[in-house]
Amino acid sequence: MAGSAPERIDSDTVMYCVNHPKRETLIRCSRCLDPICTKCAVRTPVGLRCPKCAQVGRSPLYVLRPQHYVVGALVALAVSLVAGAIVARLGMWLAFFLAAPIGGLIAEAVNRTTRKRGRILQIITAVAIGLGAFAGPVIWVAISAGGLPTNPMLYLRTLLNLGSLLYVVLAIGAAVARLN
Ligand SMILES: [Zn+2]
Ligand SMILES: [Zn+2]
Repeated sequence: MAGSAPERIDSDTVMYCVNHPKRETLIRCSRCLDPICTKCAVRTPVGLRCPKCAQVGRSPLYVLRPQHYVVGALVALAVSLVAGAIVARLGMWLAFFLAAPIGGLIAEAVNRTTRKRGRILQIITAVAIGLGAFAGPVIWVAISAGGLPTNPMLYLRTLLNLGSLLYVVLAIGAAVARLN
């Protein structure tokens, strides 16, 4: 992994794993320096760690509670609906150029409100962007016309609009990278 601390290797003395006293090893935990065997070693962004230290070292950025999912989903959906409504009016080229910045902005909003990142927020945000791209323009029309559009073609056009599809793909890519 990028930026990982070098694993400590001690080749002079034979060490034995703290959890498996019979197993010889050359590696130590990068935090407590206990010798650990390859079975026990846990790969973390800061090097190999013993199972205990791997738990301690887990970044709170990636530990989520239910309220983080709820807040993240609400924020992502709200911003995505507005973004989707706007993007649908931009035309394909503008949508293409603005997709990644908008995706980054949506991820930023999720990150600012939850102060979290990680796989589940990535999925929530990706789904929200997709929903927003479809539902946003429909809601926009509904608000300006004072009711849900009855013409089924309008729904289809929203879904099969190349600009919106491009926007969804690029925006999701940017948002996922931002929440990694
Ligand atoms: Zn340790
Ligand atoms: Zn071991």
